Amino acid sequence: MRIVLLGAPGSGKGTQTDAIIERYGVSTVATGDLLRAEVSAGTELGKRAKPYMDAGDLVPFDLVLGMIENGLNALARINPRGFMMDGFPRDLAQAEALDQLLAKINQPLDAVLFIEVDYEEIVKRLLGRGRADDNEETIRNRLRVFEEKTAPLIDYYKKKGLLHTVKGTGTVGDIGTRIRSILDAIA
Ligand code: ADP
Repeated sequence: MRIVLLGAPGSGKGTQTDAIIERYGVSTVATGDLLRAEVSAGTELGKRAKPYMDAGDLVPFDLVLGMIENGLNALARINPRGFMMDGFPRDLAQAEALDQLLAKINQPLDAVLFIEVDYEEIVKRLLGRGRADDNEETIRNRLRVFEEKTAPLIDYYKKKGLLHTVKGTGTVGDIGTRIRSILDAIA
């Protein structure tokens, strides 16, 4: 099973990840986690990516492409049960690149899950979370970036017949149940 998890910052993608991994045996790659690891390790990529992350902007694609390509190839090789991408793709150029990467290894996507939460709720959640890039100004910018760059992917995947929308409010368990009913049908 090969899926993309789509949702605004704070929509709860990370929170649902463990349950999805456990139930379906997929491996996951979260580009935000990979980038934060590069920053902590003080790599060249980390140094160049950090100012964009601190501002809540997308890291330019030419910087992240190699990292993502490596991560994806490794996942596809290591785990025959599939993968779940979290935080990628984040704009149309990335979505098209992902299609090409997956076509090359003959492993197209099975589904895209869009976790839908309204913005007021998201700001509340993120302000309570306290990660380094979770101050109000950065949050607003990340939401703006989501709206401008990532939200068009909803239509992109709808047209491909891959989109499944999940209401992202309620308890973690409620949302997990909704996700399961979708993924069980395609697993
Ligand atoms: P959130 O979804 O909560 O904003 P992430 O951990 O997914 O958090 O991303 C944190 C930051 O890492 C983003 O604001 C962005 O700067 C950078 N980032 C993550 N994934 C990508 C990507 N695919 N392309 C460009 N930048 C990215």
